[in-house]
Amino acid sequence: MFSTGCWTVGSKTPGMTSAPDLNTMFLPCRGAQFSRPHFVRSFTRSLVWSSAQVFEWPAWDSAHRTGVPRVMGLWTRWGNRIPADLVIDCCGRRSASPRWLEGIGTRLAVNHYQSCDLSYFARHYRLKPGTRFPSTTFPDVNLTPYGIFLAMGQDNGTFCLAGGVSKTDPYRTALRDGTKFERVMAGLPNIAPRLEAGTPITDVQLMAGIANRRRSLLDGNDPVVEGYMLLGDASLYTNATFGQGVALGFWQAQAFAHRADMIGRDNSQLVCELEIWTNQTLGPRYAQQVQRDEAMVQSLRAGIAGAPMNNPNDEMSALMALRAQGDKEAAAAFHRIDNMLTDPSEEFANADLNRRIKEFLRDVPEGSAGPGPLPRATFEALLRD
Ligand SMILES: Cc1cc2nc3c(=O)[nH]c(=O)nc-3n(C[C@H](O)[C@H](O)[C@H](O)COP(=O)(O)OP(=O)(O)OC[C@H]3O[C@@H](n4cnc5c(N)ncnc54)[C@H](O)[C@@H]3O)c2cc1C
Repeated sequence: MFSTGCWTVGSKTPGMTSAPDLNTMFLPCRGAQFSRPHFVRSFTRSLVWSSAQVFEWPAWDSAHRTGVPRVMGLWTRWGNRIPADLVIDCCGRRSASPRWLEGIGTRLAVNHYQSCDLSYFARHYRLKPGTRFPSTTFPDVNLTPYGIFLAMGQDNGTFCLAGGVSKTDPYRTALRDGTKFERVMAGLPNIAPRLEAGTPITDVQLMAGIANRRRSLLDGNDPVVEGYMLLGDASLYTNATFGQGVALGFWQAQAFAHRADMIGRDNSQLVCELEIWTNQTLGPRYAQQVQRDEAMVQSLRAGIAGAPMNNPNDEMSALMALRAQGDKEAAAAFHRIDNMLTDPSEEFANADLNRRIKEFLRDVPEGSAGPGPLPRATFEALLRD
């Protein structure tokens, strides 16, 4: 479902897709590009199968009972009309939902967007014979005031050196140069040993456009559309500080699957339930990510100007710091959060861990933690010719 980008559920019961239901096609979906062969095949089957049952296209039902548009299917780019009890938009972060909804006279109820201001860079390596990557549990990290640097173990004897700097950083494009990139990595104490252990198998790849976004179809208690829902990145995506990524989408897809019996029977309630589930379950993680990224954007920008590191002053940073100091309980809590087995608030409810975090925060001096493992001036010098 996630790899094909879109999924339609045809009527399972002959006659269930009645003529009055088939009143509104998602006309703006003409832009859909069903390029993958298996996707085209499955759509073709769906079309043929639907045609064999009820396939009528009455005019728009202006006396629609709820007053919100009802999506009854898709138009492909080739002009095929595909009926569906429910259209699931899992077209990823570039979902055209705002345009599609506008085209049928409605809009997203929520369209929150926060740019993370990050420019990512990554280069992949193969381990030299006789070397091993020490751990794939969590990346080796070096934090600096102006950037994040990581070494991540991968499969088949490969690993990746990566990180992120502010997209306002004037030195970010210099990192594309493999020689300069490796000079920087060699200057970072936790990353340098990994650099020694491998040979590059790619160039340095850059990527920007990292953001947090939440789109919702629920306006208060009311859906803004019927017969259409958002799933995966089309609904919610985040920067990955808390190990979030595709797992958020799978979690939401599971919540949707648990409600699959409502498809075609009560689409309106299905959208309400899934949006509420998303708000309650993924919402707190999303909010934390937004808050953390807001702080990160500010501190990375200050770091470009030479500002020092800040000592940790929030619980999550304290948990990571305790983990780095060898606190096994803190490490386990951190990895449970990272793997989305628990929520930070659940972990911080542990009285013993909470006490240690508070003690840590109490004992950490406020303010500057110095220039970090690779001072800004050195970083800039390494990236100059
Ligand atoms: C650079 C980057 C790195 C990431 N790294 C990680 C990571 O390490 N770990 C992790 O867990 N998550 C990671 N993520 C997040 C993860 O990739 C997404 O959360 C996940 O792919 C979302 O799945 P999805 O099915 O909702 O959307 P997508 O995977 O984006 O799939 C949407 C599909 O829909 C197709 N599509 C779009 N429009 C149409 C249309 N009109 N018609 C037909 N098809 C269409 C697209 O081509 C695409 O194939 C990363 C994301 C990015 C951008």
